[in-house]
Amino acid sequence: MPSQPAIDALTPDELAAEHERLSATYAELVAKGLSLDLTRGKPAPEQLDLSNALLALPGDSYRDGTGLDTRNYGGLAGLPELRAIFAELLNVPVDNLLAGNNASLEIMHDLVVLGLLHGTPDSERPWSQEPAVKFLAPSPGYDRHFAISESFGIETVPVPLHHDGPDMDVVRALVADDPAVKGMWTVPTYSNPTGAVYSEDVTRALMSMPAAAPDFRVVWDNAYAVHSLVEDCAPAHDVLGIAAEAGNPNRPLVLASTSKITFAGAGVSFFGASAQNIAWYQEHHGKKSIGPDKVNQLRHLRFFGDADGVRAHMARHREILAPKFARVLEILDDRLGGAGVARWTEPEGGYFVSLDVVPGTARRVVRLAKEAGISLTAAGSAFPSGTDPQDTNIRLAPSFPSLDDVATSMDGVATCVLLAAVEARLG
Ligand code: PLP
Repeated sequence: MPSQPAIDALTPDELAAEHERLSATYAELVAKGLSLDLTRGKPAPEQLDLSNALLALPGDSYRDGTGLDTRNYGGLAGLPELRAIFAELLNVPVDNLLAGNNASLEIMHDLVVLGLLHGTPDSERPWSQEPAVKFLAPSPGYDRHFAISESFGIETVPVPLHHDGPDMDVVRALVADDPAVKGMWTVPTYSNPTGAVYSEDVTRALMSMPAAAPDFRVVWDNAYAVHSLVEDCAPAHDVLGIAAEAGNPNRPLVLASTSKITFAGAGVSFFGASAQNIAWYQEHHGKKSIGPDKVNQLRHLRFFGDADGVRAHMARHREILAPKFARVLEILDDRLGGAGVARWTEPEGGYFVSLDVVPGTARRVVRLAKEAGISLTAAGSAFPSGTDPQDTNIRLAPSFPSLDDVATSMDGVATCVLLAAVEARLG
């Protein structure tokens, strides 16, 4: 049963008493001298251990099924057999999917740079020669996406994000009239940080809506495509097929990686797109690379075997992650459930819980937590330019700490949320 009274229902005297009580609880928290971290969505050491067999692979057999010597240069597209496994999981035809090095973020960065310097196959001129370039940013979203576009002076425009995808009325209006809108960041499955899962309707709408810019692109970052916290994983939509059917085959740029499947620092990335986009990317990428790390791709191929191997592996991750997420939700419910001062997501996958506190108090909550030795992601970081207009959103990342540390941190965070809410009410 929630133990916290509704803050809004308190009389002035009760509110003052509640402030005193919470201040004492907070002082006890600070006195514990904690040093805990809920900031970044990293796999825990036990999750990395699940893939330790990779360290001994591929042994001394270095040829893939086609006889290719993975030790040598070449094979810019990546190993066909590994691409086939992820083609199935990502619902992208294997011919349209490349396997690369360890970071999909690097490919996303390159895609933006190529758009700016060369233009896309549909561009009249490089984006850098346009008077203005804008990217839409469903928010709260992934801070590193926004950092890429912002670092090149691209105006990164926030768009509200619902549980089934971005607010399509807002998106349609922005994209239809403004040729400066060249791109959009998305995380279609178990989004970072809200856990939103784009519905098929939203996916179709995004791929078929009229765009003023003929070279409008949707970065379809399916980083959490197979990362469910429940038994049934959300399906990967056939976004390339949907876009082609709608007459916009070049619109989606699909990204994924094994960063949170095997090793975050030594996985394999994937890039899927139309044949024309793939040829465009390969032409430019071929100037930068003579081929990816195919030995790493081969060890991943041997490790997984097939798509079911990946699914079975993800079930092991789930066994580690699901109890941590359950604990976060349990504590939020127990400590904040009756207080009427916060809302939070209950994700079915991904790496985050998104917490909305009393507007105007998120930064205060993060500061209180910091002073109590609990590091939280900076308030506002899930919004373009790091600015949450309502100062309400906090991203919680429970994957890395132990279950006990998750519980201690979350209990502390709840105290900070309540204290900041009461302070705000007292003015
Ligand atoms: N995309 C999203 C949505 C992420 O949350 C992350 C990491 O947190 C990444 C991409 C990074 O992917 P990679 O390790 O493949 O660069």
